[in-house]
Order: sequence, then C-alpha cells, then structure tokens
Amino acid sequence: QQFLKGLPKVELHAHLNGSLGIKSLCDLGERLYGSTSEEFLKLCARFSRFEKEMDMNACFEKFAFVHELTSTPEGLRFATELAIRDFAQDNVQYVELRTTPKANANYSRRDYLQIVIDAIRRAKETYPAITVKLLPSINRAEPVAVAEETASLAVELAQAHPNLILGIDLSGNPGKGRFSDFAPILAQARAKGLKLVIHCAEIENPSEVKEMLQFGMSRCGHGTFLTPEDIEQLKQRNIAIECCLTSNVKSGTVPSLEEHHLKRIMEADAHKVICTDDSGVFDTTLTKEFVIAAETFGLTREHCVDLTFEAVNHSFASEQERIEMVDKVATYMAIWS
Ligand code: 5GP
Repeated sequence: QQFLKGLPKVELHAHLNGSLGIKSLCDLGERLYGSTSEEFLKLCARFSRFEKEMDMNACFEKFAFVHELTSTPEGLRFATELAIRDFAQDNVQYVELRTTPKANANYSRRDYLQIVIDAIRRAKETYPAITVKLLPSINRAEPVAVAEETASLAVELAQAHPNLILGIDLSGNPGKGRFSDFAPILAQARAKGLKLVIHCAEIENPSEVKEMLQFGMSRCGHGTFLTPEDIEQLKQRNIAIECCLTSNVKSGTVPSLEEHHLKRIMEADAHKVICTDDSGVFDTTLTKEFVIAAETFGLTREHCVDLTFEAVNHSFASEQERIEMVDKVATYMAIWS
C-alpha cells in the first residue's frame, strides 16, 4: 500500500464533479456558505443520506447534488482546485480531467470551460508536481444541440490551449440518448484533431456497442459488457479499456470485485488502464483502486508499475511529457529497490 501510495500514478478517467471527496465537498460547502450557516448544516445532513449503498440512478442523483455546489463561478473554480489537490495528494502525476460544460444563471458553457481552464492554470502554481489536461464531456442525456455547442467550444478552445484540451468525452446516463445522434458531432471534432474517449458497453446494449466500435475511439470507458470478440478487436486496434473497479461495483453494473471484467481483459492481454471514474462519489482514490486490483487479482508491484506505464502510453500527453512521466516512475522504483 505504501509503495502504491508513493507511486507517481497516471489517471485517465476522472470526472471533475465526481472527483470531490467528502473532505473537499465540506471545504467547498464551508467556503460557499460559511461553517456555521444554516445552509452548511443542511448540506452536512444531506451528505449523510448519501452514505447508503447506491445503484446507478442514485449515483446520478449524487452528481446533481455536487452540481449545486459548483453552480457559481466561485464554487466551480474552488471545486476544480480541490479536485486537483486531491489527486496531487494521492501522488497522481498526470490526470486527464473530464467535465460537462453547464449553463445556468451564473455562467454560460463557454464561461464554464474558461473558469475550469483558469483554475487548472492557477493550480499549477500550488501543485506543480501534477500535470492536468482537460477533456470536455458531452452528456448523452442532454439534447443534441447542447452536444453541438460543447463540441464546437472544445474545438475552439483547444486551438487556444493546444497543450491543455486534447479530446472530448461522451458520458452521461447510458440508459438515455442514442449514440447515433451524437456520432456526427464526435466525427467532426475528431476531424478537427480532438481525441475521443467514449463510455461504451457500460450497460448491456450490443447494437450500440457495435456502432461505437465501428465508429472508433481513442480509449473505451468501462467496457463492462464487451464480448471476448469486442475485447480482441480493441486489443488489435490498440485501444485501452478504462477500468474503474469500485465505481462499477458500487453503481451495480458489476456484481462483485472478483467478477470485474478487468480479469477477462488481463487474461486476453488487452490494453487496460486502472482509473477512479468518480473518486469522490465512490469514496476511492487511485491508490485504493490499485490496492483493490492487486488484492483481488493477485497483482504484484511490477504489474502495478506496468499498468502505470500502460497508462502513460495511452494518455494524450506529449512525447516529452511521457518521457518525464516514465522517468519519475523509474526514479521512484530505484528508491524502492
Ligand atoms: P461533470 O461532468 O459534471 O464534471 O462530472 C459528473 C458527470 O459525469 C455526471 O453527471 C455524468 O454525466 C458523468 N459521469 C460521471 N461518472 C459517470 C459514469 O460512471 N458513467 C457515465 N456514463 N457518466 C458518468
């Protein structure tokens, strides 16, 4: 555990609003409402109600709750800083943060992305050891017009921040929306140079999985219901599957850790990365995910290091950044041996 905690880790599947741990949510509530205000006390009471076991719908309710806290520029700015703080404290050296731009009375989708970009920039001064990239998310539960706006903002802002915005994520409740409606928008973004990370086979929907695999992606989110043939196809095409153990078990898409598809993916020697998904919502860290994977599937220290190198390879980092990440891991290994 101590080895895994100190390992300079690489996180490739993390949703911003899902990545705020209880402590960060309390810090955020306190900053926004003051620690003795009635709002803050009500907020604490609501936290405790979320402690019980969750299913996927309850998870999406929990996101709505966090979204209330980040519905002002100040809340969003501070939340971004706190999420980066939490990853940095877990010795994550590189994180690709995804987030769905939102519009409300306080900010537009453009403002939302700009606030997050500025907060990431500022966090670099406080947490210099962690490199943060941004992947705007399209929420499949929202109208296609919103997806169009998000994709065009992502393309435009990626031109202004080419080393920060590298791709687009397709996420949101997998039981809602149709992939085929979003495919043309994603195809356009890809043609403009953005990478695509797509939540795929999160629930059982073989025809959609087929469509998604035909369409292609840079990395596959979750991949819970991929068939052995699908896994083989992803392997041949060098597409990594982002495995989020705690998230899948707590949200009920996988019955137990032992039955997690990471086992099948490892047996097939396909490409995989260990990720948190929503470290706050699921009360985990990347260190914990490695510990769980190691304990459940008998991974050694070397396996965990190899998984980290695999994450470096499948990241959207520049060549120079990849070299630096590998160096950090090698230096760490040298200290331990
Ligand atoms: P945000 O985009 O607001 O920063 O992060 C939370 C959002 O990410 C959720 O409201 C949801 O749209 C998406 N999300 C987070 N975790 C998952 C997941 O496990 N599966 C899917 N499909 N979407 C998720």
